[in-house]
Amino acid sequence: MAEKRDYYEVLGVAKNASADEIKHAYKKLAIKYHPDKNPGDKEAEEKFKEAAEAYEVLSDSKKRAQYDQFGHAMPGAGGAGGFGGFGGFEDIFSQFGDIFGGGFGGFRSSRSGGRQGPPRGQDLQIKIALSYKEILSGATKKVRLKRYAPCTECAGKGGEGVKTCPTCHGTGTIRHVTRSFFQMVSETTCSDCGGTGEVIAKPCAHCHGEGRILEEETISIKIPLGISEGQYLKLRGEGHCGPRGGASGDLLVIIAEKTDDFYTREGDDLHCSIDIPVYKLALGGTQRIPTLDGSEVSIKIAAGTQPGAIFRLKGQGLPQLNGGSNSRGNLFVEAKAFIPTDLSSKEKDLYKQLSEIRKDKDTAKDDSLLEKVKGLFS
Ligand SMILES: [Zn+2]
Ligand SMILES: [Zn+2]
Repeated sequence: MAEKRDYYEVLGVAKNASADEIKHAYKKLAIKYHPDKNPGDKEAEEKFKEAAEAYEVLSDSKKRAQYDQFGHAMPGAGGAGGFGGFGGFEDIFSQFGDIFGGGFGGFRSSRSGGRQGPPRGQDLQIKIALSYKEILSGATKKVRLKRYAPCTECAGKGGEGVKTCPTCHGTGTIRHVTRSFFQMVSETTCSDCGGTGEVIAKPCAHCHGEGRILEEETISIKIPLGISEGQYLKLRGEGHCGPRGGASGDLLVIIAEKTDDFYTREGDDLHCSIDIPVYKLALGGTQRIPTLDGSEVSIKIAAGTQPGAIFRLKGQGLPQLNGGSNSRGNLFVEAKAFIPTDLSSKEKDLYKQLSEIRKDKDTAKDDSLLEKVKGLFS
């Protein structure tokens, strides 16, 4: 799939553009690429849709704020839904009628009349678990999924020839009449033709007239760096294909994070703790810290560093979503005191000597603490 362009870039406006500037830029593009002006030009059509999608988000202050924060990936599934998402030009016209002011009355979707076209395929949803390392560098994940693909035997048509649906006599709907005190009439979509009013005259033996076959496929999904748990990607048209040539649904990729033995995440920052030998905390020295990219950095431990001290390693955290590689957060390293439990007899002797030398100072320290606490009660 092609990389999605930045909405500001699409409209050619600055990140801090005013609402008026955004509206003006969109109007210019919409007129330039309007399908009425560019009949049959696929590229113009794509540009028109792209501009409309960008405008839909950037003209809505709430969606714009969300986009500024998260870019094309959305936070928390079940939120406001993915950005964009135009089923066809009708959507665009219903949303942007105010801009066009009815000036482009001529253009309408090719669908007409009461009958519907073949139904759209369903959306698919998958979950992908990522390590922090993958979130750091961006990953391309291969996933296996079962989805409907057009039947190759009948080229997705479902068979040969069409005839009027005998169930609904071509209307695409079924009328239900219920009589009690009142006569109730309701209509439902005909299930035999899916509302199209037509059925295949000679159904394809391979797909039984469905025009699609459930297939197992492996696809590659490019994950943007800096993404986090609960955000999702919406891959348009990567879901199930619709029956008999119907449009494909979308594929929702929900992001999960694998737990890490060493690092924990807080936004773009990473946290870890490291055991530092007691003598190093007391005397000072250097300490090697493993970083997420697989290398290491050395930090200076000052003499007299206390357990619980926190060191900040700038730019060793995770990148911001869509922020580029120089937008990384920080790594916070908490110093822990490492007390050895495998002392040799020589080491024991040295610790004993140390305790002898320290005895008076430490006793004095205890005394002053006891005095202070007792003082609180007298
Ligand atoms: Zn029917
Ligand atoms: Zn077929």
